[in-house]
Amino acid sequence: MTATAAPTTAPFRFFDVQVVRTRRLGPSMVRITFTGERLEELASGGRDQRFKLFLPQPHQAAPVFEDMGDGWYAAWRAQDPAERPVMRSYTIREQRHDPCEFDVDFALHGADDPASPSSGPASRWALAARPGDRLTVLAPAVEDNGGVDFRPPPGTDWILLTGDETALPAIAGILAWLSPGTTAKVWIEVGHDGDQQPLPTFADADVTWLARDRSTAHQGEAVLSALRAAELPEGTGYAWIAGEAGTVKAVRRHLVGERGFDRRAVKFTGYWRRGATEEDLIAELTAAATATAK
Ligand SMILES: Cc1cc2nc3c(=O)[nH]c(=O)nc-3n(C[C@H](O)[C@H](O)[C@H](O)COP(=O)(O)OP(=O)(O)OC[C@H]3O[C@@H](n4cnc5c(N)ncnc54)[C@H](O)[C@@H]3O)c2cc1C
Repeated sequence: MTATAAPTTAPFRFFDVQVVRTRRLGPSMVRITFTGERLEELASGGRDQRFKLFLPQPHQAAPVFEDMGDGWYAAWRAQDPAERPVMRSYTIREQRHDPCEFDVDFALHGADDPASPSSGPASRWALAARPGDRLTVLAPAVEDNGGVDFRPPPGTDWILLTGDETALPAIAGILAWLSPGTTAKVWIEVGHDGDQQPLPTFADADVTWLARDRSTAHQGEAVLSALRAAELPEGTGYAWIAGEAGTVKAVRRHLVGERGFDRRAVKFTGYWRRGATEEDLIAELTAAATATAK
């Protein structure tokens, strides 16, 4: 998980936003469109642009949160956990300027059973979201910002992308950004066939959709098996891998160990980890940072 324990603010800033509309994209995904004051100052870098959202607690109408500038993280941590907003990492799927709006595609994990241990506050919030619902986001104010990881170096001949539903918004953003004719090999694992969506691109993209077989396979297995069996293009590849942390690790190991990828040409990010909430992952990062500082 690359969510940092204490993300710096600049060139990010806080925006209060509200839901304009929601659209179910398939059994496991919902697209939520947001607007808000001063949204013309939000500047997504496209591709896999990450940002943080702050959700109200179920008993609140809006997140209780004060913009403390660079001191926000300490202030947020000092709040009563029952009152402070729930912080989660997401991807800006698309930003538009007229009118000023942006879309976020939420994977509805545990949607079939909201009481399931694999559901979480963000997934539950997205499932119930209605126009007018309010959130706070920490999002970029300049396009060239550190929240974009997809940066193939000069000399890259082709692109490899793998991910699950959580990575699908980023994969869509990357495909929309690629130059005409770029060779791209893409594997995307989703919960159901109905979660497939159009992925407009000028690239020469070969996209393989893999619907998870809930009865036999663990999440992530399908991507790894498909990749193992695949013939990859000649030349220098650049890989971008995201999704469940264990799967991401296994895919990276396969590319570096068996396919001879240069480590520096593999950008990998655990977007979530089985059995761990984002709070658990932040606590681990904070503990590691404290131990290093001693
Ligand atoms: C940089 C970045 C960008 C991301 N972009 C997106 C995005 O655009 N869309 C998106 O949907 N997600 C995205 N994610 C993933 C998202 O932040 C996590 O899935 C997050 O845990 C969801 O929060 P929650 O409150 O629903 O669940 P949590 O409270 O964090 O977790 C509750 C339980 O659900 C499990 N869980 C979490 N996510 C999943 C899942 N997808 N499938 C099955 N079980 C799960 C956890 O292991 C835990 O057991 C991104 C993550 C990162 C780091």
